Amino acid sequence: MELWYTEKQTEYFGITAKIKETLVAEKTEFQDLAIIDTVEFGRMLVLDGMVMTTVKDEFVYHEMVAHPALYTHPNPKKVLVVGGGDGGVIREIMKHPEVEKAVLVDIDGKVIEYSKKFLPEIACELDNPRVEVIVNDGYMHIHDHKNEYDVIMVDSTEPVGPAVELFTKGFYQGIYDALKDDGIFVAQTDNPWFKADLIRNVNRDVREIFPVVRVYWANIPTYPSGLWTFTIGSKKYDPLAVDESTIPEINTKYYSPRIHKAAFALPKFVEELCK
Ligand code: SAM
Repeated sequence: MELWYTEKQTEYFGITAKIKETLVAEKTEFQDLAIIDTVEFGRMLVLDGMVMTTVKDEFVYHEMVAHPALYTHPNPKKVLVVGGGDGGVIREIMKHPEVEKAVLVDIDGKVIEYSKKFLPEIACELDNPRVEVIVNDGYMHIHDHKNEYDVIMVDSTEPVGPAVELFTKGFYQGIYDALKDDGIFVAQTDNPWFKADLIRNVNRDVREIFPVVRVYWANIPTYPSGLWTFTIGSKKYDPLAVDESTIPEINTKYYSPRIHKAAFALPKFVEELCK
C-alpha cells in the first residue's frame, strides 16, 4: 500500500509527498510533531500538519534567514534565534566566526530533541560551545533581555498555535527593545500567494518601529507556493547598502554575494504588499 503525506496549504490547495517511513509522531505540549522520511525530499519535520524543514531543501531557508542580516551588521557578536528548534539557522550562524554567542529560544524541547536524533545534518551545531539553547516562549525571552542582541532572527512556525504572538506589533516592539542601538532583526514572513495580508500587515507594523525595512525572497519548494519572503527591520544598517565585494564566498548552496543583492529585487505583485 502506498502512503502519502499531504499538507493542505489552503482549504483548496496543497502538496503531497510519498512516504517511506514515519520516524516519530507525537503530540507534544505545544503541537503535533512528526518526522517522516519521504522519497523526494528525504527526512521532513512536520509541525501541526505543516512542513517545517526537509533534508533536501532546508539549506535555502536556513542560509537565507541567517546570512543577509549577518553580512549587513558590521560586527554581530551576540545573536538570538526565536524558534528554530531544528538547528538549521544556528548551523548557518556558526559559519560566522565573529559571532561570540548564539542563543536559541524554542518553546518546544521535543523539536530540539527529535531534530538532534533524526535530523543530525540540520541540528549538528546545537551543541557548539558558542550556542546556548533555552526552552522557553520567545515572546517572554525578548521582554526579559533588553538592549542585548546585535541580531535577532525569528524562525518560528506560521502564526498559529504557540507562534501567534510572534507576528504582532507588540512582539516587533519587544524585538526592537531587545536589540542594541544598531541592531538588526529578520523574520520569515510567509508567501505572497496565500498570505498577502500577513506580509502587508507585518510590513506596516515593522515600518512603524524600524527606520530601515527591507523584504527579500527565496525559492523553497516544500513551502506554500514555493516563493518565500523574509522581512528585515534595522535600526541603522541597510542590507542594500552592503558592498557585495566585501561578502566572502562561504560554504553555502544558495546564499552568495550575488544573491545578497538579487534577493531584494521583488516581483511587482510582492512590491505592492511592501509599500
Ligand atoms: N522554517 C520553519 C517555517 O518557516 O515554518 C520554522 C521551523 S522551526 C522548527 C519553528 C519553531 O518555532 C518550532 O520548533 C516551534 O516550536 C517554534 N515556536 C513556535 N512558537 C514559539 C514561541 N512562541 N517561542 C519560541 N519558539 C516557538
